[in-house]
Amino acid sequence: MKILAVNAGSSSLKFQLFEMPSEEVVTSGIVERIGYDNAIITFKVNGEKIKEDKQILNHKTAVELVIHGLISNKIIESLDEIKGVGHRVVQGGEYFKNSAVIDEDVIAHIRGLIDLAPLHNPANITGIEAFRNALPNVPQIAVFDTTFHQTMTEDAYLYAVPYEWYEKYGVRKYGFHGTSHQYVSERAAEILGNKKAKVIVCHLGNGASICAVDGGKSVDTSMGLTPLEGIPMGTRSGNVDPAVLMLVSSKEDKTYGEVLDELNKKSGYLGLSGFSNDSRDIIDGMNEGNHRAYLAHQVQVKRIADYIGSYYVYMGGLDAICFTAGIGENAPEVRRDVIKAVKVLGIELDAAENQKRGERMISTKDSKVKAYIIPTNEEVMIAREVIRLESK
Ligand code: ADP
Repeated sequence: MKILAVNAGSSSLKFQLFEMPSEEVVTSGIVERIGYDNAIITFKVNGEKIKEDKQILNHKTAVELVIHGLISNKIIESLDEIKGVGHRVVQGGEYFKNSAVIDEDVIAHIRGLIDLAPLHNPANITGIEAFRNALPNVPQIAVFDTTFHQTMTEDAYLYAVPYEWYEKYGVRKYGFHGTSHQYVSERAAEILGNKKAKVIVCHLGNGASICAVDGGKSVDTSMGLTPLEGIPMGTRSGNVDPAVLMLVSSKEDKTYGEVLDELNKKSGYLGLSGFSNDSRDIIDGMNEGNHRAYLAHQVQVKRIADYIGSYYVYMGGLDAICFTAGIGENAPEVRRDVIKAVKVLGIELDAAENQKRGERMISTKDSKVKAYIIPTNEEVMIAREVIRLESK
């Protein structure tokens, strides 16, 4: 049975078609620059990329082209082969404690959460509506970035602000990257042969977050009301004193919104280094003796270590630290320096294994706390959720 996993952004749409339950990827692809004359649609078929430039002015057209491409590239013979579509939705608030079979009511609730995710939920809804339109008889499932973290308790998710802000506006920590944290922590528990394992997942991509998983449940995570909170990222600052907003807005005659935008888009690696948001450039710069690149790296490492230490204490112990996503999977220097920074917890790096790629243990056999690289797979998690909900 074929299941499509979809991740719709404001100007892009990523998709992966799975054969389930074998989880084999039949095809994957991306539509980029939706809304422009020179959009690009890419299909990966049998390891080969098929690219086409086209005018794609909206998600509806993008979805029609994806579906047409599945047939014209002979990936499927008929649309009946697609038995379900799973959509990544960023913000599920407190309402969605689980993935949901999409109907009008579910869409209304996702729309109701737009205040909490103004950049993401509207794009997710556009993707959902376009697929419902194109495949009206196929069940559509929403899988939220936030549901995995709904197991956090009040002490972890509340901010110490006037309680009415929480009651009236939903001001609290929600956390994101939930499907990735769940996938990686489940895999870690499997490798460790221990369902009760205490695991810390470091999802380090362009967006980055840390999650403490105790016995399969998220008990704390670094992102908050929005993905801005937590550790520094490619272009996001992570935690700063909110008073920065007032100071910079008055000094530079900018609105709070403009300064917030700079905390989201001009900070992190980019802000500190002054030249790049890409970890490869930061590491190259650092190796060439660029002090600002070194700072960008070192500040991030320090903050990651801060979270690991804090989650170690919060969980009362730790079995494994897992690294995942673009940087976590591909940057040995970041893993090396994070592990060095938390060595006191009883973790010993295997320097040779750390240089390699793919799923593996990167701590020594005798290390008390283990460390792993576990490549994430958010798409397969989405496809699994579709199967799980359809079989209910
Ligand atoms: P997102 O999905 O959040 O956009 P990714 O998980 O794709 O991000 O991660 C992007 C980051 O991964 C970039 O900073 C990029 O530099 C880094 N990355 C990818 N490949 C490598 C590599 N070979 N070495 C170091 N960093 C890498």
